[in-house]
Amino acid sequence: MKDVVIIGAGPVGLFSALLLARCGLSVDVHERWPSFYPLPRACGVDHEIIRQFQGAGLMDELAPLLDPVIGPDKTYEFLDADLETILRIDWNRPGASGWAQVNQFYQPDFELLLRRRLEAMPGVTLHHGQELVSIDQHDHHVDLGFVETGNAGVRTAAQARYVIGADGARSTVRDLLGIRPIDLGFAYDWLVVDVVPHQERVWKPYVIQHCDPARPTTLVGSGPGRRRWEFMRLPGEAIEQLNTTQTAWDLLARWNLTPDNATLERHAVYTFRGSWADQWRSGRVLLAGDAAHLMPPFLGQGLCAGMRDAMALGWRLGAVLNGVAADSLLDSYGPERREHVVEIIRQAVDMGRLICMLDPAEVAERNRRMKAAMADPALALKPPPEPRLGYAGLYRITDTHAGTLSVQGRVRHNGNEGLFDDVAGTGWQLLVRGPWVPGAVSRSIIARIGAVVAQFGPHGDTVDTDDIYDAWFDRLGADAVLVRPDFYIFGTSPLGDVDALVHAAATMLALTIEAPLQDQATW
Ligand SMILES: Cc1cc2nc3c(=O)[nH]c(=O)nc-3n(C[C@H](O)[C@H](O)[C@H](O)COP(=O)(O)OP(=O)(O)OC[C@H]3O[C@@H](n4cnc5c(N)ncnc54)[C@H](O)[C@@H]3O)c2cc1C
Repeated sequence: MKDVVIIGAGPVGLFSALLLARCGLSVDVHERWPSFYPLPRACGVDHEIIRQFQGAGLMDELAPLLDPVIGPDKTYEFLDADLETILRIDWNRPGASGWAQVNQFYQPDFELLLRRRLEAMPGVTLHHGQELVSIDQHDHHVDLGFVETGNAGVRTAAQARYVIGADGARSTVRDLLGIRPIDLGFAYDWLVVDVVPHQERVWKPYVIQHCDPARPTTLVGSGPGRRRWEFMRLPGEAIEQLNTTQTAWDLLARWNLTPDNATLERHAVYTFRGSWADQWRSGRVLLAGDAAHLMPPFLGQGLCAGMRDAMALGWRLGAVLNGVAADSLLDSYGPERREHVVEIIRQAVDMGRLICMLDPAEVAERNRRMKAAMADPALALKPPPEPRLGYAGLYRITDTHAGTLSVQGRVRHNGNEGLFDDVAGTGWQLLVRGPWVPGAVSRSIIARIGAVVAQFGPHGDTVDTDDIYDAWFDRLGADAVLVRPDFYIFGTSPLGDVDALVHAAATMLALTIEAPLQDQATW
C-alpha cells in the first residue's frame, strides 16, 4: 500500500508528489493520458510560488526558465479600444517572498523539470494511461480502481492511506465523492494562441488587457522568448470557426505578427469560469488544484492557488503519515484554503466582467469610471488580495497577523549568507528578535516538528543583511514569529511569550507525543 496516491499528473499533482516524496513518503501518480502531454496554460506565477519552488530545490534549473517581471517598463495595463490606458496594475516589483512579484514562464518546461526530478526520486512512480473509475473508502485505507485509457476492459487497482484528487477541472474524484462545485455563472470562451516571435521586441506595456469590445484581447509574456495572445469569442462566432490557424493569424495581424516574423506554436479554445468545490476533504480523499477551484486567468492565479493547495497538503500529510500529528490536522486544509481562494476567484471574475464587456454603453461607462479612478487612487480597482488563510485555519485565530504570508530576505545565518530559506532551512521556522532561551517543553516541540530557529539581534545567530526582518518585526508589533512550512504565519508574540506561542502550535497540530514532555505545567 502506498502512503499517498495522486490522481492527475498536471502541475499540481506533480508538485504534490515532489513535496510528499521529500517528506520520505511513498507516492504513486496515476494519469489518464498515455504519455506526457503538457498544455501551456499558466504563463505566470507569483513570488510566493517561487519561494515554494526554492524550498523544493528547483531553482537551480528553474531560474533560467523564468522571466521575472521587474522594472519600470514591465507594466500590466488595461487599454481601451484606442490603446489609451484605463488601469495600471502595480506588479512589476519585488515581492515579499524574496522573488519578483510576478514571474513568467512556459508551463511545459516547468512540468518537464518536475517529471525529471520525480523520476530520479525513490518512492515515486508515475503511471500513465490509467483512468480512475472508482473510489472505495475504508477505515485505514482507500481502494482505487482504474481502467486503461481507451480500453475499459483492462482494469487495475491501487491502495493508499490517503488520496489527492488533482485531476483538473472535470475531476472524476470530485464527482465520485459527490462533491458539488459552486459556480459564479461566469463563462466566456477564449482562443489562446502561443507564439514565438523570431526577433526580440519591446512590449510596452509588457502585459496588456486590450478592452476593445470589438475583440477583447490579452497579450502577455510566457517565458523568455515567448508571447501569448488570448482572444475572446464574440457572440454568434462558432468555436470551430475561431479555433483555426488561419483565424489565429488573422487576429495576430492586428499586433504585427505574421508567419514571416513569428512561429505559431499552438492554439486552443478554453472556457474561463469561476467556481469552487463546496468541500475539499471526504475521509481519506482530498481535492487540490483545478479539481477544487477554477478562475479566469486575468490575475494569473489559478495555478498559484493549486500550488498553495499542494504546499498546504504536503506538510500536513507529511506530519500525519510520519506519525508527528493526528489525522485531524487535515480537517483545517479545506476551510483555510477555500476561503482564501474564493476571495481571489471573486476578484478574477470581477476583473473578467470588466474585460469581457461588449455593450457599447457599458463599455463607455466602464472607461469613464476607470479613467477617473486612475486620476483618483481612492476610486481605483483593488489590487489582488494579499494572501490570507480562511477563518477556520490552523493558526492562532486571536492574532491579527496569523494566517498572512511571511516574508523572506537575505540574511547571514551561522556564517552563511543568502536567502533565509537557503541558509537557515525550510519547514517550521521560528524567528526571534532578541535573546530567548527555550524552555524544556519548547525544545521538545521544536525537535518534534523539526523547526528551524533563527535569532536576530546582537547575540543571535542571524544577521538581517537586507534590513527586511527588523522592519517586519516592527510592522507585526512582535519579537517572535512562528511560520508554518507553507510560509504562512502561525502566530506572533512578544519576547516573553515565545514558549506559549510554540506550545499553542503543538496543541493545534494535535502533536503526537512519543515520550511525556517535561514541564507540562507551562502549557
Ligand atoms: C489560458 C489559461 C491561462 C492561464 N494562465 C495562468 C497563469 O498565468 N497563472 C496561473 O497561476 N494560472 C493560470 N491558469 C490556470 C492553470 O493553468 C491551471 O490552474 C493549472 O494548470 C491546473 O493544474 P492542475 O494540475 O490542477 O490540473 P490539470 O493540469 O488539468 O491536470 C489534471 C490532470 O488530471 C488528469 N485526469 C483527469 N481525470 C483523470 C482520471 N479520471 N484519471 C486519471 N487522470 C485524470 C488529466 O488528464 C490532467 O493531466 C491558466 C489557465 C488557462 C486555461
